Amino acid sequence: MLVSTVGAAAADQAGAQPIISLRTATFGYDERPVISDVTLDVSPGEVVVVLGPNGSGKSTLVKGLLGLNDQLSGEVDLFGVPRARFRDHARMGYVPQRHTLSGSVRATVEEIVATGRLVRQSWLGRQSATDRQVIARALEVVGLGDRAGIDVSTLSGGQQRRVLIARALASQPDVLLMDEPTAGVDTASQHVLAEVLARLAAQGVTMLIVTHEMEAFSDLVTRVIVVDGGIIAFDGPTATFVERRVDVLHEHHTHHHDDEPHDDRSSLPGAPRSGPLDPGRRPRD
Ligand code: ADP
Ligand code: MG
Repeated sequence: MLVSTVGAAAADQAGAQPIISLRTATFGYDERPVISDVTLDVSPGEVVVVLGPNGSGKSTLVKGLLGLNDQLSGEVDLFGVPRARFRDHARMGYVPQRHTLSGSVRATVEEIVATGRLVRQSWLGRQSATDRQVIARALEVVGLGDRAGIDVSTLSGGQQRRVLIARALASQPDVLLMDEPTAGVDTASQHVLAEVLARLAAQGVTMLIVTHEMEAFSDLVTRVIVVDGGIIAFDGPTATFVERRVDVLHEHHTHHHDDEPHDDRSSLPGAPRSGPLDPGRRPRD
C-alpha cells in the first residue's frame, strides 16, 4: 500500500529545523512550577526516551510542550512556529498516560482509530478513500489489522494502548509523543510495541517516549533525557547515558513502580482485577 503513516516532514529531514524547541521553558499548574528552565531541541528522526522517577515532571513536560498545562516562562516552538500560533495539530501525535478507553460507549477498534483521522478530514467530515486507507494502515502497523471490527472493550490493556497509538498515527503525525506506553503492559506486549515503534522509527517518525522500561526500546532510542526533581538532569546520546548511568540515576530511581495499579487488563472498565496468580501479571521490581 502506498499510503504512509508518516507525515510530510519525515521526507525532508536533512538539515531540517527542530520539530520541538524549548527555551528555558517552565511548566506547571495554577502558577505553581513543576518543571523549570527546560531548554531542548528535538530534531526530525530522533527517538528520545524520557526517564525519571514518578512525580519528577515527565508528564508535565510533555503536556507543557503541547500546551495542555500552564507555561510560566520561556518559549516553545513547534515546527519552527511559536506554540501560541501553531495550528497544525495533526502533525503532533499524542498518546497520553493512563488513558482508558471508555467502556460506557461501545466502539469498534476502527471507530476509535478513525477519530484520530478527523483532524485531517474535510469540514464535511466524510471519510475519503485515502482516509480509510490511512486508518487501515495504522491498524496494520500496530498489529491490529485483523481486529478492526471488534469492540475495544474486549481487548487487553496492551492492545488498547496499541489502538491509541494507531489513533495517533491516523493523523499521519511527524512526531509521536507517548507517555508511558508500556506501563502495566506485560512483557510480551512490550515486545510487540517495541517492534511497532521500531517500524515507525525506520519510516522516519520522530518520537518522544516517556517510559520506565528503556530496555524495551534500546534498539531504537537515539537519545536519553532524565527528568529529576523538576529539572532536566541529563540529556545526551544513548551511549553517553549508558556510560554515565550510575551517576545519572540514583540507586532508588532504578526501582520503579508504575504509578497505576494494573495488569494487562485492569484498564478495562468492568474487567476483573487480576490476582497474584494471574498468568498475565508481570512481576514488579
Ligand atoms: P511524572 O509524569 O514524572 O510522574 P508528573 O508530571 O505527572 O510526574 O507530576 C509532577 C508533579 O506535578 C507532581 O507533584 C504532581 O502532583 C503534579 N501534578 C501533575 N498533574 C497535576 C495537575 N493536573 N494539577 C496539579 N498538579 C499536578
Ligand atoms: Mg507521568
